[in-house]
Amino acid sequence: IDPADSLVHALRRAAAEVPERPFLAYFDGRLTYREVDELSDSVAGHLAARGLERGDRVAVLLQNSPHFVLALLGAWKAGATVVPVNPMYKSAEVGHVLRDGEVAALVCADRAWESYLRATAADSPVRIVLTACERDFQTRDDARVLTFARLPQAGDADDLAAVARAGHPAPEGREPAPDDIALISYTSGTSGTPKGATNTHRNIMVNAERQRTGLHLPEAPVYYALAPLFHITGMVCQLGACLNSAGTLVLTYRFEAGVVLDAFAEHRPHYTVGPSTAFMALAAHPAVTREHFASFVNISSGGAPLPPALVEKFRAGFGPYIRNGYGLTECTAPCASVPPHREAPVDPVSGTLAVGVPGPDTVVRIVDDTGAEVPFGEQGEIVVRGPQVVPGYWRRPDATAETFPDGELRTGDIGFMDEQGWLYVVDRKKDMINASGFKVWPREVEDVLYTHPAVREAAVVGVPDGYRGETVKAYISLRPGVETDPDELAVYCKERLAAYKYPRQVEILPDLPKTASGKILRRELRSRTHDGR
Ligand code: ATP
Repeated sequence: IDPADSLVHALRRAAAEVPERPFLAYFDGRLTYREVDELSDSVAGHLAARGLERGDRVAVLLQNSPHFVLALLGAWKAGATVVPVNPMYKSAEVGHVLRDGEVAALVCADRAWESYLRATAADSPVRIVLTACERDFQTRDDARVLTFARLPQAGDADDLAAVARAGHPAPEGREPAPDDIALISYTSGTSGTPKGATNTHRNIMVNAERQRTGLHLPEAPVYYALAPLFHITGMVCQLGACLNSAGTLVLTYRFEAGVVLDAFAEHRPHYTVGPSTAFMALAAHPAVTREHFASFVNISSGGAPLPPALVEKFRAGFGPYIRNGYGLTECTAPCASVPPHREAPVDPVSGTLAVGVPGPDTVVRIVDDTGAEVPFGEQGEIVVRGPQVVPGYWRRPDATAETFPDGELRTGDIGFMDEQGWLYVVDRKKDMINASGFKVWPREVEDVLYTHPAVREAAVVGVPDGYRGETVKAYISLRPGVETDPDELAVYCKERLAAYKYPRQVEILPDLPKTASGKILRRELRSRTHDGR
């Protein structure tokens, strides 16, 4: 496979070579490669007939369902750029993306589109609306892919399933070129206003291909989509890698630990990738057994810190070794990962698990504030250059110049590299806690908390303190059936960390707030403290 290709070409190739192989499995429904090719042709034909032009933007707000894949591939076949948006966004957030992306077509569930369009007010750029009843096949009883009873449509919206089944031919001469913008991926905004990273088809193919070749999966592999497809990790490491290997992708709408375990038992997947918080939730589920993981050849965690204690708990309890991977939306998911048949070392000083080694043709450097490279073992900002780094942000020359000086991505993450070339991510630069002038990296404290048997999730933030300026506070959620209290957890950390690092405040919550991609939202926890709640 030529990484200069696009996923549209990968689909065409698979539809020609293995037309009857199932590509998508969704509860009781299946769609083969031939069907997905034909149905997405029809979506493309419809969009073009409704006036969508090459380079126009199509926003897709759907969960992990066949509809997402049909909308994505249909839009690409029409030569458009896709703007994947978290369907849990509120109307005002969607309105921002629709206006900022100057989106011409909107694909979303049910009748939500009316409120989205209201949020874009009078100057809405949206001219075409497709809706999907993807929720209808969440139950096993009426699960029939693309053959469900539809809600009556209001206004001018067309139904995605009907459009897909109409048999329109794909428009001629619209197939994407490698350097066309495939996606505008709005970052989830854990660090401010969302900006749209412009992932090209080449960016996607480079990482999808690396994911495929690096995993040692069997012929016709089965992928389970644990990460949401609207997030870059799900899009590239699951959908992209699966399509590139003509495999089968198992979709189950959205993350729910019990449903995930049922899907593992039924589909016997070979591979999945998700945020570490998803693995924490699976490990804490009352029904989980080793048997659920027996079919896996590989499991990866990406997009969020992976506590070494979780890797060990998982291996001891369920068998698989969780492979770490590091990436950002701005480098189209991974830029470093743990190679097959290797295990990531743990730094003896900080206790941090390595995230991996840089991928082929990828140069990762650690620099100081002046931009000069620092020696092995020393901390600095991680900067990345490689074929998966996006050309910039959508219509934001200022932010592009700042984040991609000279085409190199400044990640905003602090890390270091050891002499063997393993990369370690310490933490996000802006999350550093300054306690009486001492630097505390929340990750180090969290990694210690995760070694405690009662801890399910941990997040450490700096909170204002009259004496120290800032002090360390830990938010915890507990594993079911294991007893502890805040004082015991503070003492546990005090025994294992320098005096200025241990959390002087510990608060237990039923659950910690997370982004749609599964990252724990420290920002929300910080503002909780500042609000005096
Ligand atoms: P925003 O960029 O708006 O803050 P976000 O954090 O959701 O949103 P993503 O591109 O999804 O943006 O996440 C990238 C960040 O996730 C990295 O910069 C890094 O801080 C963190 N990250 C990703 N993988 C790992 C990993 N294996 N270990 C530690 N941190 C990781």
